[in-house]
Amino acid sequence: MSYKFVVVGAGLSGLSNAFFIKQLYPKAKITLIESSNRVGGMITTRKENQFICEEGPRSIKRGKYDRPLFYMIDKIGLYPEFVTGVQQPYSYVYWNGGLKSIPQQINLQTISRFIKDNGKDELLNLIKAYPKILFNNQESDNLGEYLDEILGKELTQKYAETVFYGLFGESVYKLSKNMCFSKIHMASYDEQQLAKDLIYDAEFEQIRIKKLRKANSYKFTYGLDSLPKRILRYLQDNSKVENLDIQLNTKGKEIHIEQRQLVTENDNKEIKKIEYDYLFLNVPSSEIVHMMENSTLNEIKEDLKKIKNNSMITRNICWDQKILPPDFRGLGYLINPNQNQNMLGMVADSLQFPNQFPKGSTSLTVMTIKDVNDDQVLEELSSHLGIKVQDPKLIIKKHWMNSFIQFQPGYLENLQRIEKGLENKKIIIGANHYTMVIPELVYLSYSKMKQLYV
Ligand SMILES: Cc1cc2nc3c(=O)[nH]c(=O)nc-3n(C[C@H](O)[C@H](O)[C@H](O)COP(=O)(O)OP(=O)(O)OC[C@H]3O[C@@H](n4cnc5c(N)ncnc54)[C@H](O)[C@@H]3O)c2cc1C
Repeated sequence: MSYKFVVVGAGLSGLSNAFFIKQLYPKAKITLIESSNRVGGMITTRKENQFICEEGPRSIKRGKYDRPLFYMIDKIGLYPEFVTGVQQPYSYVYWNGGLKSIPQQINLQTISRFIKDNGKDELLNLIKAYPKILFNNQESDNLGEYLDEILGKELTQKYAETVFYGLFGESVYKLSKNMCFSKIHMASYDEQQLAKDLIYDAEFEQIRIKKLRKANSYKFTYGLDSLPKRILRYLQDNSKVENLDIQLNTKGKEIHIEQRQLVTENDNKEIKKIEYDYLFLNVPSSEIVHMMENSTLNEIKEDLKKIKNNSMITRNICWDQKILPPDFRGLGYLINPNQNQNMLGMVADSLQFPNQFPKGSTSLTVMTIKDVNDDQVLEELSSHLGIKVQDPKLIIKKHWMNSFIQFQPGYLENLQRIEKGLENKKIIIGANHYTMVIPELVYLSYSKMKQLYV
C-alpha cells in the first residue's frame, strides 16, 4: 500500500518505526521530522582521545524482547561490530557508609561474599521472597507497597528503593507496579508470531550465536550511535528518493487533526504542511501537548499533561590510570535516597567494556540529581570507594532535563485513554511512552506497526 507515514522524532523509537514501515510497506512514503541536527536522540557517543564515551545509554541488555532489534541489526549489517560486555560477579548498593555487594552470578564466591557483607538471614529472606515474586496475586497498583508485601519493608528500603531511586531518581512508592513490573503492554503481543515473521540471515545467526551466546549486554565497536546512524543509512540506501523525506532541524509544530496534516517549522522559520495517513509521535508528551494546542481534544491534552518526567545529570569521567580498588568487580553501584548523598549511582564503563578505552585507563559514569560541582562528585566517589581518586583527564557533563518518565500509579490507565482517543485519528503514540529499555522500545515500535498491518 502506498500510505503516507509521518514520523516525528528521530531517536531510536522513531527510527525503528521508519525501519519497520519500510519492511511492511515497501512502497509507502516516509517523512521523518527531527528538531535537532542529527538522528539518535538520547543515544550520543562522544569520542575524546581514545575514549569512547556514551553520554546516554551505554549498553544494550540481552533479554526476552530482543528479536525485532536483532532483526534490524541484521538488516542494517551492524553485527560484525558487536562488542560484548565483560560480566562482573557483583553489583553494589551504598548503604550505611559502605558499598554492599549483591551477587550477580550464582557461585560460591559471590554468595559467600554476600553473606559476609549482609548476614545469612538476608540471603534467606531474598530466596524466600522469590516464589512470591513469581506467583504474585496482589491488590495494589503501587510498586512500593507491592514490594513491601513480598520482600518486607526492610529489604524493599535497602534494595528496591536503592535500585529504583538510582535508576529513575524516583521512589518505588511513586512508581506504578503495572508499568514497571508486569509489563502487561509487552506481554499482550504474541512472541511466537513475532519469531515467525522476523527471520535472521544465516551469517548474522552464526555471529550472534558466537559472540552473544553468553553475553548479557553489548554495544558496537564505534559506540552505540552506530545504531541510529546505520538505520538512517539503510533507509536512504533502500528507498526511492520520492519515498523518503528526512527533515533535520525541523520541529513538529502543530497537528491539524481533522485534515490529517502536520505543520512543521525549520530553523529558518519556514513553515510547511505535510499530509499523513498515519502519524507517529516519538517525542516527549510535553511536545505532543504543544503540537495539539489548537485542537479541541481537551481530555486527551489533559491526560497528556498528567505524564510527569524526571531529570538527571550524568558525568563521564576518564583517567589515564586504573583508579578502582582491585576488589571492585561490579557493573557499578546505586545509592539509597536515605543515605544523603548527591550521587544516585556510578557505572564502571571501563570494567564492562575495556576495549572501548585505552589500556590501563578508567572510565566511569556518575549520575546525580542536583547540579553539584565536580569536586563534590569526586569527593563522594572517593569516600564510597574508600580511595582518594586523582584528578581526571576528562569530564563530560550532561543535563538530561525531564527525560525519564515517572511511571506513577494510574499511568497505564491514563496512557490507554490517550491511545484510545487518538486511535481513530490515525495518530500513534511512540514506544517511548511505555519503556526506556532499548530492545523493548524496538519491540513495541515493531508490534505497533504490525497491529496496523493486520
Ligand atoms: C543517561 C541515560 C542512560 C541510559 N541508559 C540506557 C541503557 O544503558 N540501556 C538502555 O536500553 N536504555 C538506556 N537509556 C534509555 C534510552 O537511551 C532511551 O530510552 C532511548 O534512547 C529513547 O529513544 P526515543 O526515540 O524514545 O527518544 P529520544 O532519543 O529522546 O528521541 C526523541 C527525538 O525527538 C526529537 N524531538 C523532540 N521534540 C521534537 C519535535 N517537536 N519535533 C521533532 N523532533 C522532536 C528529539 O530531538 C529526539 O531526537 C538511557 C537514557 C539516558 C538518558
